[in-house]
Amino acid sequence: MTTTATAPADGTEGIQDAGHVDVLIVGAGVSGIGAAHHLREKFPDRTFVILDAQDNRGGTWWTHRYPGVRSDSDLFTYGYRFKPWRGPSIAAGKEILAYLDEVIDEDGLGRHIRCRHRVTGARWSTAGRRWTVEVVRDDTGQRLRFTAGFLWMCPGYYNHAKPYRPRWEGMERFQGVIVHPQQWPENLDLAGKRVVVIGSGATAATLIPAISGTAEHVTMLQRSPSYYFARPVTDELAVTLRSLDVPAEWTHEILRRQRIQQLHWLARMSQDAPGELHTFLIESMRPMLPEGFDVERHFTPRYRPWQQRIAVVPDGDLFAALREGKASIVTDAIETFTTRGITVSSGEEIPADIVVSATGFNLSVLGDVAFSVDGEPVDFTERVTWRGIMINGLPNMAYIFGYFRHSWTLRVDLVSDLVGRLLATMRDKGATMVVPTLRPQDKDMRLRPWCDPGDFNPGYVMRSQHILFKQGDRAPWTHLLEHDEEREILPMVDLDDGTLAYR
Ligand SMILES: Cc1cc2nc3c(=O)[nH]c(=O)nc-3n(C[C@H](O)[C@H](O)[C@H](O)COP(=O)(O)OP(=O)(O)OC[C@H]3O[C@@H](n4cnc5c(N)ncnc54)[C@H](O)[C@@H]3O)c2cc1C
Repeated sequence: MTTTATAPADGTEGIQDAGHVDVLIVGAGVSGIGAAHHLREKFPDRTFVILDAQDNRGGTWWTHRYPGVRSDSDLFTYGYRFKPWRGPSIAAGKEILAYLDEVIDEDGLGRHIRCRHRVTGARWSTAGRRWTVEVVRDDTGQRLRFTAGFLWMCPGYYNHAKPYRPRWEGMERFQGVIVHPQQWPENLDLAGKRVVVIGSGATAATLIPAISGTAEHVTMLQRSPSYYFARPVTDELAVTLRSLDVPAEWTHEILRRQRIQQLHWLARMSQDAPGELHTFLIESMRPMLPEGFDVERHFTPRYRPWQQRIAVVPDGDLFAALREGKASIVTDAIETFTTRGITVSSGEEIPADIVVSATGFNLSVLGDVAFSVDGEPVDFTERVTWRGIMINGLPNMAYIFGYFRHSWTLRVDLVSDLVGRLLATMRDKGATMVVPTLRPQDKDMRLRPWCDPGDFNPGYVMRSQHILFKQGDRAPWTHLLEHDEEREILPMVDLDDGTLAYR
């Protein structure tokens, strides 16, 4: 990469020219690091940089540092295809960061990563055949400008700086502390405290057992229940294979195949026999819960299994906290905060010293970057996705959006393969520009929401559908959510089918 410190004389004084790269990756999380690995492997001569707004790499696993933070997925599928996972099946956030650090070290990615670089704008110029990327350094206020031949967006799906904080009546009079797991205070003392965790998702299920040994009592306050499934932290098959000195690469691959098959079974059952799957999930919890526990009220969701992610309970730890009386559940709507706790619609007041608002995220569309193409601002709500990887009318730009219900990373590898093929196709054609383009027969197609609520409908997606780009009613203008379909389709995609214009 070439870098100069001269200010341009085009009305953008004060912006430092940070140089040109072949590929600019936004985001140094699981996706950005995976993308960089694949790029480096396939195109060792291309220059690239990875920009991240945070003060460290790791994305989600750097942002979330609340007690007990861990994966929900098994690490054989959440880990990359190319790097064996050697630890327990379900991993702590710190273990995932250490794994990512190994990838960074082994691939020499460290010198390409620029932290505290928040990308605010990206302008495509067809004449220049390049993106101009505006960056702000939040620590110094410095403004930088990179140019890049190809933009690879890996910013995840939520705003890391601003978590979703619903407002409830009476919050201002509450005398205790209200925290969000996304911004967990480092020195928060839970000893002897009564904690209320608002939420029923994976974060609540992780946090409650992790703090129930320290806090006086933890109450999970949920409006409605989610599905849970207890899984062992340690995988017996992995232990056996490792004890036989089977190479780590084989163990990783065998466990991956097993997990992928199990997930496909789950996905298929959720379609073909949702009632049976519902019963299976509920009944598998029942024996782990205290005698006489009201399973119907607290653990019986109103939606079909797989319409939202199924939260994993490692070694049944959440159920153990309930059995031991360290935690309890209230399923009810919040009426108001009081000075000493929260009153719910039944009239019950739940006393609290600390309230944890495990209420999820604010979805962000492509890192909240302001895009323009040849001077025209891009309104994403008018755009259509190309296979959940590119967007119509946006040249030389790909994004990684992982799976919601399967391990996110399974898609990182698949999308990176496709982007690698795309870059190779451009090279072979001598093209400097590729742009997804609606064919005449696609122009009148029915547009659908980015996410079909009948298929997948968690709150953070439903709250933000209106700001997202759309899907069409046919391939390739769709975004598939199932790995078993995509792992067959994506490697076979014809990159010359008339929906990608090369110039
Ligand atoms: C607590 C928690 C547990 C999870 N567990 C699982 C799990 O077990 N399995 C699973 O599949 N998924 C899980 N997820 C979902 C998770 O987000 C993904 O697995 C994955 O981490 C996403 O990786 P990413 O690199 O795409 O995005 P992120 O991890 O979100 O990282 C994106 C990075 O891009 C940066 N960025 C964004 N916008 C800009 C910008 N404009 N300029 C510069 N930088 C920018 C951010 O600062 C961030 O560091 C979990 C999520 C959370 C919050």
